[in-house]
Amino acid sequence: SVTPTSTTTRSISHHHVDPESERVRVAVRLRPKNSEDLAGADYADCVELQPELKRLKLRKNNWSSEAYRFDEVFTETASQKRVYEVVAKPVVESVLDGYNGTVMAYGQTGTGKTYTLGRLGKDDVSERGIMVRALEDIIAGTSASDSVEISYLQLYMESIQDLLAPEKINIPIVEDAKTGEVSVPGVEIVKIRNLDHFLQILQLGESNRHAANTKLNTESSRSHAILMVYIRRFAEEKDQTNIDQQKDTSTDRHGRRLSTIRKSKLLIVDLAGSERVDKSGSEGHLLEEAKFINLSLTSLGKCINALAENSSHIPIRDSKLTRLLRDSFGGSARTSLIVTIGPSSRHHAETASTIMFGQRAMKVVNTVKLKEE
Ligand code: ADP
Repeated sequence: SVTPTSTTTRSISHHHVDPESERVRVAVRLRPKNSEDLAGADYADCVELQPELKRLKLRKNNWSSEAYRFDEVFTETASQKRVYEVVAKPVVESVLDGYNGTVMAYGQTGTGKTYTLGRLGKDDVSERGIMVRALEDIIAGTSASDSVEISYLQLYMESIQDLLAPEKINIPIVEDAKTGEVSVPGVEIVKIRNLDHFLQILQLGESNRHAANTKLNTESSRSHAILMVYIRRFAEEKDQTNIDQQKDTSTDRHGRRLSTIRKSKLLIVDLAGSERVDKSGSEGHLLEEAKFINLSLTSLGKCINALAENSSHIPIRDSKLTRLLRDSFGGSARTSLIVTIGPSSRHHAETASTIMFGQRAMKVVNTVKLKEE
């Protein structure tokens, strides 16, 4: 008899299941008020959250009657654990099942993207962000014969820099001519042994990011940071029944045995700040930077608009970011987006534009399916 819960059996049965159309999931998270928000007597709330209805209202001059619905609305008291469980855990679980997955944060600088994704929580594990929690679950969900590897890179002014090997800059993106699969083979790949090892590597990446940005005289808010996690899982061969079953079902039409290795990839993307860089005051390097930052984010916005409107042309090739995220929006990955906002009406325009970005992303449909080997 076949054990229906066996990982091997389950993974093979997926091959015969039709690809599933699935909308990109979008959550909003409100950062708690800080001293800067409260400085000055004119503080006013910019948003009214209705978490039980999963929607929020935005203040213009008065409170608009329009409410924006999301898949989840996190108030300023939402814990890191809850945000992980709602936003990222379903993606992590499907990555363990062999699907590609993406978790991405979008929002104005200072609204909590890095807090949500990259927080190490060295002194307080309850503060750990999505990257650490994801790796914790991935390590727990894989066995010693599986392989978990990571790369950590930064995209700044259309140049890819390796955060684990800072001497590597201008690393090219490579596309497989047949499958269209995108990779960055020039970056360092580190095999992760355990969670402590991952924490060390992540910390190294963070300090390299800081050093690189100091050298370039820029801020990390201007670059995109991308953690790539590659999982390779080998079929468990403990149960003879399963092996036989596997032979029956995982041969191709010529009777050749298909690979029993499943590969999947998780991307965790901390985007550059979504605020407009003021072009009028920028000159030289700063103006170049403004253009480039706008190139990647503008082009991501254009792709999401085009996908939301079912347009026949998706301008994926316009920037490195959209090339790297090719599978994440309109592709075969399971994708979750968290948009982060601040509470103060002083940043009304940025908050409104972040909310509209999130609303459009909710219209993007992916075709979640296993990649053919
Ligand atoms: P971003 O990456 O969007 O620029 P950060 O993650 O650096 O923003 O957050 C800015 C500041 O606000 C940091 O000091 C961070 O610790 C704090 N912060 C952000 N979100 C929260 C939150 N949900 N709870 C507590 N502090 C937060």
